Amino acid sequence: MNSTFSSGLVLVFALTAVSVSCADRQSDHTGDDKVAERTAMIEQIRAHGFRGEDVLKAMFKVPRHEFIPKRYRLLCDPYGDHPCSIGHDQTISQPYIVAYMTEKLAIKPGDRILEIGTGSGYQAAVLAEMGANVYSIEIVPELAEHARAALSDQGYGGVKVLTGDGYRGWPEHSPFDAIIVTCAPEDIPRALVEQLAEGGRMIVPVGAGFQRLVILRKTGGEVKVENDLPVRFVPMIKDRSD
Ligand code: SAH
Repeated sequence: MNSTFSSGLVLVFALTAVSVSCADRQSDHTGDDKVAERTAMIEQIRAHGFRGEDVLKAMFKVPRHEFIPKRYRLLCDPYGDHPCSIGHDQTISQPYIVAYMTEKLAIKPGDRILEIGTGSGYQAAVLAEMGANVYSIEIVPELAEHARAALSDQGYGGVKVLTGDGYRGWPEHSPFDAIIVTCAPEDIPRALVEQLAEGGRMIVPVGAGFQRLVILRKTGGEVKVENDLPVRFVPMIKDRSD
């Protein structure tokens, strides 16, 4: 993906000490050699004004570099404050945008989450690390295959990845407590709104060219829609076989 986030965002550059202590590290991954890079990434997300501690803990545990296909890893700092290419004209989102969108989903352990646009598998891993049951759909078969392998190698084999068109959602596993779309449709896909559970939240970048994050909440059978940050994501591809 994606993401140049809003230039209109007020950035708070007050660096706060990283509160992820050694005692908090429960994952096997933090034994790798990128702990310093991940610590710096967390500081950099905080520097954007982000304060969601549970999300930061999960992002500290997930080895982001392992989700970028090997041949792209040297072309881009996996822990830098920007998206990176993952091939097939697609990108892994900027860490801050991953944090921001994840926080808006207000995930609780055990929630059933649908992601549209698996890409590298990184966002799905962050959601799984937060205790969610993750279902993710990717339209490019090679990326779906890459993500399945990376997720399984890093201990997130419970994430279900479907090769297919996200416009249809995944009705067999609906309703979902939250839906995150990481590519931009021109309009909010109706099937996804239908697959949202009562009390469910959805975040989706909407628009052609100029896009805005849109947050939907379903309560009492009604859907409330709120416009959020301007963003830039890759377009959501329309499956031409329809
Ligand atoms: N969440 C990803 C980044 C996604 S980039 C990560 O963490 O790495 C956006 C992804 O959406 C791309 O992989 C692209 O192939 C996928 N995509 C685009 N249109 C789609 C569609 N109609 N259905 C499912 N996936 C789609």
